[in-house]
Amino acid sequence: MKLTQLALKNYRNYASVDVGFSDQINVLIGENAQGKTNLLEAIYVLALARSHRTSNDKELIRFNQDFARISGTVNKTIGNLALELVISQQGKKARVNHIEQPKLSQYLGNFNVILFAPEDLGIVKGSPAGRRRFIDMEFGQMSPKYLYNLAQYKAILKQRNAYLKQLRFKQAKDLVYLGVLTDQLAAYGAEIITARAKLLQEMAKFAAVIHGDITNGREVLSFDYQSQVAKEARSTDETAYAALSTLFEKYQQREIDQGTTLVGPHRDDVAFIVNENDVANFGSQGQQRTTALAVKLAEIDLMKQQTGEYPVLLLDDVLSELDDQRQTHLLKAIQNKVQTFITTTSLDGIAKEIIEAPAIFNVAAGQLTKEE
Ligand code: ATP
Ligand code: MG
Repeated sequence: MKLTQLALKNYRNYASVDVGFSDQINVLIGENAQGKTNLLEAIYVLALARSHRTSNDKELIRFNQDFARISGTVNKTIGNLALELVISQQGKKARVNHIEQPKLSQYLGNFNVILFAPEDLGIVKGSPAGRRRFIDMEFGQMSPKYLYNLAQYKAILKQRNAYLKQLRFKQAKDLVYLGVLTDQLAAYGAEIITARAKLLQEMAKFAAVIHGDITNGREVLSFDYQSQVAKEARSTDETAYAALSTLFEKYQQREIDQGTTLVGPHRDDVAFIVNENDVANFGSQGQQRTTALAVKLAEIDLMKQQTGEYPVLLLDDVLSELDDQRQTHLLKAIQNKVQTFITTTSLDGIAKEIIEAPAIFNVAAGQLTKEE
């Protein structure tokens, strides 16, 4: 899919913009603090109805204004879609082809993007929470069901943790109610775990090919999905549910003593194994970067496999962080198929192949001008 046109009104430092894009590579060049990331963020928000930089939507509204509007035309194999998101003090309104979507879940999934920022290069070595967030963002875009299960799971987890605290401090003692919450948590948790197991396995295959390519076959990458639910139990919802239920029984007293939920997919992690070692602990910085790049690029293939369409790729300041060889691999992964937006302060240090053909936009003080 391609974002062919974008209009912004009162979005961050953009008062008003209406611009058409190339369906190949678009480079946004500008000095610091001119609005490059803001523009990528707007595209991201149009896709996911939330920002990757803030959970407070109101920050997206231009200072001293009442609302922000992002609208765009997305070209897909099924035709064009007009998407619109309006953020105001009252909340968010989403429209698809001018029809308001009462539920955000009906809006999501129409437009898929993958954002790659310098901090993603740290995904391998970063915290488990960061890796879970990464997995959930990507899988959530591919599967509305995953997103739904995750939202339910989080809501019940919150209730259950609150109730465990009450039990801990003897403000409550009804274990039947705990059982109800536990059962719901196990049911949603099981679906999340089976989905993660399946999608991580697919993603690992794509990542291994890309990684083999970058390392000229010298290194072998695999994923190790780490969940409290044993590998054998992750293939069906029923077995995962049974495994989780058993764990909950076993940990019940400890959970009450600690006043928090110790079992479930909110404790999952994934390790990246290169030549049989966990690259987070044993890999060099270069190996960790290569792994992160392969994992990110694998998302593109996974998205295509799962949704039938290539996503739009947003590269925020990331190109200058990669050496020529890694840039070349990135280019190979996107060429002629993935519409890409690249931000940079300068074209220095960017492989010539990338800067040869793109549409170039200059970004200065919330204004966008196309270089002819
Ligand atoms: P860099 O190269 O440093 O990453 P950038 O071009 O990516 O810079 P952005 O993050 O896009 O910069 O823009 C930052 C600017 O946007 C800041 O100067 C900030 O003051 C301004 N800004 C952020 N939020 C708002 C807002 N709600 N209203 C108006 N301006 C805003
Ligand atoms: Mg920036």
